[in-house]
Amino acid sequence: MAVIIGSTVRCPYPNCDHTGDVITNNHCRTAHKMERKELFGRYGKPQGVKFDSLASSKNLAGHVPAPNVNIGYPSDSIDAKDRRTARRRGR
Ligand SMILES: [Zn+2]
Repeated sequence: MAVIIGSTVRCPYPNCDHTGDVITNNHCRTAHKMERKELFGRYGKPQGVKFDSLASSKNLAGHVPAPNVNIGYPSDSIDAKDRRTARRRGR
């Protein structure tokens, strides 16, 4: 009985980190509410994952990129006008 190393595939569904020897129809139905054929047609065939990338994806699990924060202040706010006034006075 031959064991094929590197046969692990990852579900092509975005942000789905489900991996396995095969993406089962059952997974597609229960996790994504669609048939496997439909999921593969929409998101592509599952890609094989190496051990390292699998590990790194697990490391990244739960790591959510921070939302874009507007660090600038609105230029039409009272505060901004005060700052511009202060800068003008400073010259
Ligand atoms: Zn999935």
